[in-house]
Amino acid sequence: MPIYPPKPAPFHCAICGKARPGRWQSPQHQDRQPMCWGCEQEFGTGAYGDTNPDRRTIKQISALICALEIDAHRILIGEGPLYG
Ligand SMILES: [Zn+2]
Repeated sequence: MPIYPPKPAPFHCAICGKARPGRWQSPQHQDRQPMCWGCEQEFGTGAYGDTNPDRRTIKQISALICALEIDAHRILIGEGPLYG
């Protein structure tokens, strides 16, 4: 009988702001707070679909930095922020 990990809690993505329901997915596509898997892959640096938790944390930090850089640039040129 398989033992599943605890179901993740629902949250809102820190970058795109979309609600992410708490549900099981494959380890390669599992959302990790504070951002959704899609934003992590789109903005973060590193290998696509990496399951190593340390490298995913690094990828999430780089994704947040990238989103902040984009918003900072948009504010400097007089436009409103896009993310979170
Ligand atoms: Zn997102």
